[in-house]
Amino acid sequence: MKRILVTGGAGFLGSHLCERLITSGSDVLCVDNFFTGNKENIKHLLGHPHFELMRHDVTFPLYVEVDEIYNLACPASPVHYQSDPVQTTKTSVHGAINMLGLAKRVKAKILQASTSEVYGDPEVQPQSEAYWGRVNPIGIRSCYDEGKRCAETLFFDYWRQHHLLIKVVRIFNTYGPRMQPGDGRVVSNFIVQALNGDDITIYGDGDQTRSFCYVDDLIDALILTMGTGDDFTGPVNIGNPSEISILELAQIVIELTGSKSKLVFKPLPQDDPKQRQPDIDLAKSQLDWYPRVDLINGLKKTIAYFKI
Ligand code: NAD
Ligand code: UDP
Ligand code: UDP
Repeated sequence: MKRILVTGGAGFLGSHLCERLITSGSDVLCVDNFFTGNKENIKHLLGHPHFELMRHDVTFPLYVEVDEIYNLACPASPVHYQSDPVQTTKTSVHGAINMLGLAKRVKAKILQASTSEVYGDPEVQPQSEAYWGRVNPIGIRSCYDEGKRCAETLFFDYWRQHHLLIKVVRIFNTYGPRMQPGDGRVVSNFIVQALNGDDITIYGDGDQTRSFCYVDDLIDALILTMGTGDDFTGPVNIGNPSEISILELAQIVIELTGSKSKLVFKPLPQDDPKQRQPDIDLAKSQLDWYPRVDLINGLKKTIAYFKI
C-alpha cells in the first residue's frame, strides 16, 4: 500500500484529494496547520484506518516516511494570503524546501500545487506553459505569486541538482463544495450572497475574466499527473478553458439560486488580473485529461452544498 503525504490536506482541494486517495486504496497522512483549513472538511475521514491527521506547519522540517507527496499547503484566497503575506511566502518557499528535502531523503515522488498566478496579469490569451508571465514583484499579490514562482524554481533545481521525481501542476481557478463561506473567493462569495439575499459584490466593472474548473475534474488531473512517467515534470496547466466574465458569473449565480440579490460595484483590488484562461493542450496530450463538468452543473452542485 502506497503511503501518501498531502500537505494542506484539511483545505478545500486537499480534503477532496485525501478522500479520493483513500478510496483508491492508499494510506494518507494529512498535514495541516489549519490556517485556512478546517477539521470539518476531513471529519468523515478521521476514523478511517488508512487516514492520519497531523497538525504541523510546513515552514518547519517534517520527518516522516512516505512514497509520494502532494504539496498543497498554502492559503489560496487573496483575502487570506494577504492577511499574513510574510507567512504566505514562507509557506511557499520554506514549505517547498522542507518538502523537497523530505522527498530527497525518503526518495518520494513530489507534486507541487502551483497556480495560474505565476502568469500574473498576462498579455497573452490563453496562457500556455511556455509563457513566462507578467508578475508585479512588489505588489499585494506578490507574496503568493512570487512565492509560488520561487517554489517552482526550487522544484526544478532539486530535479536538476538532486534528480528528484517532480511534478508541477499550474492550477487555474477551481470551485466546488468545501470552499469556506468566508473564504473571499468569487464563487463562494457570490453563492453565499445570493442565498442570503445580500448584494452581490462585483469588483471593478466585472469585465475581467476567469475560467472556472470543478473540483472533481481538478482532483482527477492531480492524480493523473502523479501517475505520469518519471520523465514528465510539467509544468502542466490544469483548468477549464471556458472563459467567463465576473459579471456573467454573477448573473448565472442569481439565475441558478433564484435570488433577488442586486449587483453592487466595488473598487477593483490592486493588480487584479484582467483575464485568465488556460491552454490545456499539454494536459490533453500527456494526461488524456480535459474537464468533464461544465460551469452550470458544477455551480448547481456547489449551490446545493452551500444550502445545507
Ligand atoms: P485552502 O486555503 O482551502 O487550503 C490550503 C490549506 O493549506 C489549508 O488547509 C491551510 O490550513 C493549509 N496551510 C496553509 N499554510 C500552511 C502551512 N504553513 N503549513 C501547513 N498547512 C498550511 O486552498 P485550496 O483552494 O484548497 O488550495 C490548495 C492549494 O492549491 C494551494 O497551494 C493553492 O495555492 C493551490 N491552488 C488553488 C487554486 C484554487 O482555485 N482553489 C488555484 C490555484 C492554486
Ligand atoms: N527536511 C525535512 N525532512 C526531511 C529531510 C529534510 O523537513 O526528512 C528539511 C530540512 O529542514 C532541510 C530541508 O528539508 O533543511 C532541505 O533539505 P536538503 O537535504 O535539501 O538540504 P539540507 O538543508 O539538509 O542541506
Ligand atoms: N471578485 C469579485 N467579487 C468578489 C470576489 C472576487 O468581483 O466578491 C473578483 C476578483 O476581483 C477577481 C475575480 O473575481 O477579478 C476572481 O477572484 P478570486 O479571488 O476568486 O480569484 P483570483 O483573483 O485569485 O483569480
